Amino acid sequence: MTRDDTGGTAAVDAVVVGAGFSGLYMSHRLRELGLSVQVFEKAPDVGGTWYWNRYPGARCDSESHIYCYSFSEEIREEWEWSERYPEQPEILDYLRFAADHLDLREQISFETAVESATFDEDAGTWTVETDGGESVTSRFFISAVGCLSEPYTPDFDNRDAFEGESYHTARWPQNGVELAGKRVGVIGTGSTGIQLTPEVADRAGHLTVFQRTPNYAVPARNRPLGDDEWAEIKANYDEIWEDARFSWLGMPFEMTHATTAGLSDEEIRDALEEGWQAGGFRFLHTFEDTLFNDDTNEIVSEFLREKIREQVDDPETAEKLVPTAHPYGSKRPPMDYGGYYETFNREDVTLADVAENPITEFTPEGIQTTANHYDLDTVIFATGFDAMTGALLAMDIEGRDGYTLEEAWEGGPRTYLGLGVDGFPNLFTITGPQSPSVLSNMPVSIEQHVDWIADCIEYMQSEGYEYIEPQSAAAERWVSQTNMLADQMLFSEAESWYRGANVPDKPRVFTPFPGGVETYRRECERVVENGYEGFEFGQSVDGVAGSAD
Ligand code: NAP
Repeated sequence: MTRDDTGGTAAVDAVVVGAGFSGLYMSHRLRELGLSVQVFEKAPDVGGTWYWNRYPGARCDSESHIYCYSFSEEIREEWEWSERYPEQPEILDYLRFAADHLDLREQISFETAVESATFDEDAGTWTVETDGGESVTSRFFISAVGCLSEPYTPDFDNRDAFEGESYHTARWPQNGVELAGKRVGVIGTGSTGIQLTPEVADRAGHLTVFQRTPNYAVPARNRPLGDDEWAEIKANYDEIWEDARFSWLGMPFEMTHATTAGLSDEEIRDALEEGWQAGGFRFLHTFEDTLFNDDTNEIVSEFLREKIREQVDDPETAEKLVPTAHPYGSKRPPMDYGGYYETFNREDVTLADVAENPITEFTPEGIQTTANHYDLDTVIFATGFDAMTGALLAMDIEGRDGYTLEEAWEGGPRTYLGLGVDGFPNLFTITGPQSPSVLSNMPVSIEQHVDWIADCIEYMQSEGYEYIEPQSAAAERWVSQTNMLADQMLFSEAESWYRGANVPDKPRVFTPFPGGVETYRRECERVVENGYEGFEFGQSVDGVAGSAD
């Protein structure tokens, strides 16, 4: 128990919501600072997104040696990944191992969702209420809810009329789903649908993939990690991580070329072929200006279109699978782990183009489009998330003057550095909107955010400050800068979830910071060096004037 500035008693110093990568590390850092911490986690175990996304083929597109914590030498030494890209069960095991190793479980209440968090200006504390009826007061309220946590299921007409089984990939049952011999429909061809499709095709009696927008999948080129490779990684771990921290995507890969300009057709082809063979996000590192320069992008996109055509036997099906409406990278580039395009060469797989013939309704027996009825036993929604803001807004968060986060973000999220929100004292958002978050290798960004927040709280302790809040002007500036950068890139040419376009009535603003992990990290460091420029500190809640200007 601690005493807050107004003399009341707060139950804990900090409430952290979520026990995935970010919540676990945050609670560890806070405890090391001597703070009392209460973590609330909706799931029955740690893992966050990796607890929920257990659909067949679920795997991380970041390479395993950098998709983990770097802060603990012991965890680093004791854990070895088995493959180049970690599969969901292995990531979950890793997070369980980390939670046990750091002895974090005691401070976590599992199967407990935060329903509301209200800032009490008189007491100067947050009151956090859960679906289990608990009410806890705390000085800090820290969101570690993740960026892709709130599943999105389109509201198809008569969706509930379907009498078969239906599942969302992000709420996949613990004990799996029996697909053998079933007529299965998968809706969605984003990163999830592309991972899932070959796996379902192998298990199901017949698979129909309902595709609205074709995508550019690049082979991930997964493989087991050999002992020699591990030894090499371990010997160079510090350097690898330092490169990742000061990189574009939080991945320690060099750009092969600045641009296509000035290169011969053969040189361009060789560079792209090299990237294609390297696989995964390394392909995106072939030309530095892929996401800025229309000419380079069109060359890269056309290369990928040709690759798709080469993999699909039937030319008509191939053309349906070739993306033409959006440039490569303007939507999150998906990875192919198991012959995604070749799946459509199978006799027992059908591609339903629902851009050409939209889904009109669900029926008791399946799905009706404007062209056909598809008889199905099981429907799988690989339809994505209410990304970046969905999980935050699912909690009823109320700041100063009874002003809610929903009201504050009516026109889209507005943060300073993705770390804090003006009008909401002592609220921190790990990998919040307007931070690199989903445009980066998450653990690198998570560690940076958690360290920044923990260091800030330590600074407050040493200076005797009780409250912190971003200045409104700083938040305003940061949001404009994020949007300006996005406008200079090709992101504006796609209707993507980065821009809220996948959820009806969601404000269409670009949510992640697109300027890269290195630029962002240096900006956060600069802010601290300048005495936390853009933030206000105070001994009393009135002393922080974030909402005043
Ligand atoms: P997503 O990228 O939002 O894809 C959703 C899919 O559902 C899209 O193909 C979309 O079509 C389709 N869809 C949505 N509403 C529809 C409707 N009414 N009718 C027909 N189709 C509809 O979601 P996701 O694939 O789950 O991926 C989300 C993000 O999670 C990824 O971008 C990535 O950041 C992350 N993720 C990462 C990994 C990994 O690291 N391995 C794996 C999976 C996901 P449109 O494109 O036409 O909207």
